[in-house]
Amino acid sequence: MNFDSAPIAAIATAPGRGGIGVVRISGKNVAAIIDAVCATKGKSLQPRHATYLDFVHADGSVIDQGLAIHFKAPHSYTGEDVLELQGHGGPVVLQMLLARCLEAGAGIGLRLAQPGEFTHRAFLNDKLDLAQAEAVADLIEASTEAAARSASQSLSGAFSHAVQDLVDKITNLRMLVEATLDFPEEEIDFLEQSDARGQLTRIRAALQQVFRQAAQGALLREGLNIVLAGQPNVGKSSLLNALAGNDVAIVTPIAGTTRDKVIETIQIEGIPINIIDTAGIRTEAQASDEVERIGIERTWAAVQKADVIVHMLDAARGPTREDEEITARFPSGIPVIRIWNKIDLSGHKPSVDQLPDATHIYLSASELAGMDLLRNELLRLIGWQQTSESLYLARERHLVALKAAEEHLDIAAQHAAHDSEVSDPALDLFAEELRLAQDRLSSITGEFTPDDLLGVIFSRFCIGK
Ligand code: GDP
Ligand code: ZN
Repeated sequence: MNFDSAPIAAIATAPGRGGIGVVRISGKNVAAIIDAVCATKGKSLQPRHATYLDFVHADGSVIDQGLAIHFKAPHSYTGEDVLELQGHGGPVVLQMLLARCLEAGAGIGLRLAQPGEFTHRAFLNDKLDLAQAEAVADLIEASTEAAARSASQSLSGAFSHAVQDLVDKITNLRMLVEATLDFPEEEIDFLEQSDARGQLTRIRAALQQVFRQAAQGALLREGLNIVLAGQPNVGKSSLLNALAGNDVAIVTPIAGTTRDKVIETIQIEGIPINIIDTAGIRTEAQASDEVERIGIERTWAAVQKADVIVHMLDAARGPTREDEEITARFPSGIPVIRIWNKIDLSGHKPSVDQLPDATHIYLSASELAGMDLLRNELLRLIGWQQTSESLYLARERHLVALKAAEEHLDIAAQHAAHDSEVSDPALDLFAEELRLAQDRLSSITGEFTPDDLLGVIFSRFCIGK
């Protein structure tokens, strides 16, 4: 990615039609665009005030009418001069408005923004740290309310503050250690007098706490991918409907009607659960036509990537030879939940049984009996713990950094252990591990983050963000 400092422009609202649509421009000299595109009748826009006016072509003909807002640097999203043109939310009229801005801005080097470039500039101008910038994308992509709440927490800086707090505490401890290193004759007493061990213990506990909040929050972001497999007519679509609470899949008594996979996202306690309803895994030999065969192939591809395989059987009929064939094809290493459905017909009671091959659950999808047993088992599998702590919608990268920092603190603790002889080198190593832990934590907020990683992070944003 090539980030220069030229002014940039993009449509900031989602593609498609909507009540309003926004073209956003950021950079130096946006006044030139205001003069050319906004019919201000000679007046300048009052910063951060909405002014209703015409957006015009070079010949004065009107493109649209709407609101123009000028945010002067540094009081803007990006920290640069920003101009927002809010017009009507049609794709054609917005494209016309954007094209007009680019034409009018040719003289000042205005160009189209790359994905995430507005937010990248906000980061470079210290409007947001890296964790907050990531939270912008996560808030936009949140698929449940709980995920959106956690993303909003991170965006407000709660996660960054928690991490910064750890960094500050480690910095304090480092200052103590390094001061002592300068006066070797005092080293022996250092660990005792400064309560360095006690400080380290408290920092480690605080770090573990942040990790728990981040790891739980990451579940809200990542969710769980479930493949729902089983013979036609065992009740897969009924189960999907029972979990989703509305009629998303077609329930029908005719075998093989679910032709392709249907992905439905439901939520359990705010965790997005992506369920792939399979094409009713019949063996290829049983497939009646090409379309069905392709459906079966796709299903098996999805099975390989699942977090959990839910294999559904008919409790009244018992396992069939086809069920054994399905089971034989499950990849090893992915946990399996075997659901025995239609217990209203078989006479079983709702129950859970942890067996070596799988967790067996007896339920009835159509009678809604035993559904909570399934929900709880899914939550247990991903390690969800109910908590009143606020959660941070962390990314994998954050968890890796927190873990690495924790490991460095563990090693530091060994160097400071009571039974180890506190000699020059041990105190040196203690200080070094603190420094490494601090670096890893700082990478979360982006203080020491290599440019190529920044490029990767921001390129995954949508255009206009
Ligand atoms: P799929 O082919 O596996 O998706 O199965 P469906 O969900 O389409 O269900 C097939 C038939 O079984 C439908 O007539 C459902 O109403 C019925 N069914 C599903 N679950 C139950 C259940 O728990 N008890 C009874 N008695 N019938 C069920
Ligand atoms: Zn079905």
